[in-house]
Amino acid sequence: MAGMTLTEKILAKHAQRARVAPGDNIWVDIDVLMTHDVCGPGTIGVFHKQFGKNAKVWDRDKVVIIPDHYIFTADAMANRNVDVLRAFVKEQGLPHFYDVGTDRYKGVCHIALAEEGHTRPGELLLGTDSHTCNAGAFGEFATGIGNTDAGFVMGTGKLWLKTPPTMRFVFHGELPPWLMAKDMILSVIGDIGCDGATYKAMEFDGQGVFGLNMEERMTLCNMVIEAGGKNGVIAPDQVTLDYVNARNKSGKKYEVTQSDGDATFEFEKVYDLSQLKPVVAKPHSPDNKAFVDELVGTRLDRAYIGSCTGGKMTDFRAAARVLNGHTVKVDTFIVPATTEIAKNLKTETLDGKSLEQVFLNAGAKIGEASCAACLGGPGDTFGRLNAALRCISTTNRNFPGRMGHKEAEVFLASPLTVAASALNGSITDPREYFA
Ligand code: SF4
Repeated sequence: MAGMTLTEKILAKHAQRARVAPGDNIWVDIDVLMTHDVCGPGTIGVFHKQFGKNAKVWDRDKVVIIPDHYIFTADAMANRNVDVLRAFVKEQGLPHFYDVGTDRYKGVCHIALAEEGHTRPGELLLGTDSHTCNAGAFGEFATGIGNTDAGFVMGTGKLWLKTPPTMRFVFHGELPPWLMAKDMILSVIGDIGCDGATYKAMEFDGQGVFGLNMEERMTLCNMVIEAGGKNGVIAPDQVTLDYVNARNKSGKKYEVTQSDGDATFEFEKVYDLSQLKPVVAKPHSPDNKAFVDELVGTRLDRAYIGSCTGGKMTDFRAAARVLNGHTVKVDTFIVPATTEIAKNLKTETLDGKSLEQVFLNAGAKIGEASCAACLGGPGDTFGRLNAALRCISTTNRNFPGRMGHKEAEVFLASPLTVAASALNGSITDPREYFA
């Protein structure tokens, strides 16, 4: 009997079965359910409608609520969404609420989940956000679900899932200093297309993956949804365990597992990192791949460095290295994913200056920790594209209207490429800064 992949093993355990195979429909027990200000109110509405006005969530300790999307805005509807979350948290007595305006406020949910110790190997985490697959970086099964499913999970702690087949992506070699995880994942998405992994697990493997820190591994897993993937996953190693053990506040025990040596992968693609060049996704799709040297000189109006796939310390260290001592030629927006990252920008230094000072000296503007303009948001959102501008961004989607104006053009790239491009006002090969 063939072995199982990491994804299959986690699903089997949560279905209390010895084994599962791709295509098996199973009931699984959920370890963590996350929701935020955009989908939380809808989820709560489904929960109350289906389970009753006085119903209680299945396990208070397993529900995590993180307002992050439309936060720093005067928009009354957006503010009302956060009020709905507050009322629900009070009604249910939920301990894991990261409310805006308090010391607990965190920012972008996927990074907040990791930083606050809600991500653990071997677990099953669901969230009402398509980039919930981010948490697969910790060797767990994590995927996004809709409000209806989330309302059901809130009441029962269970969900009906189909076991996905697994695709494996192996990266050989070491990442050169001008490349980042964003280049790796944009390369994969460009190669297999936006529907190349529809309802499939994407497992990342190889020295090039295990050489990445946890923030970069999150960037890989976060964007599997841009290829239609059900989940992304990386087997836990010592790097994973060090991160998790330092943050696992609850002390909850977890199980480390990996794909069996004889597991069946439906597809395998091998990359040699020494052959990879910086990648850019052109408007209006994350799979519209080009190498940066094909686009050099393309005029820009704006640069944006933020989001769950481009607003972490690793991203800002990379951007600061390029921007240090220079001045940007286009409006450049910096948005830390979380408040922890925002604090670190003030304390971590480069050549005796804080990273925050490096960005301000370069002429960039720094916003508050949140999703900000990654999803457009209300008109007063920091960094939003309110006109038909051309922007290069470290975010993860570039569909028409995603960052605001429907006629804006968004190029997706690594923080190194975005920073280098900001300095020239046109798309620039970051390798110029690594002479
Ligand atoms: S930063 Fe962007 S991609 Fe990430 S959760 Fe927020 S809106 Fe979604």
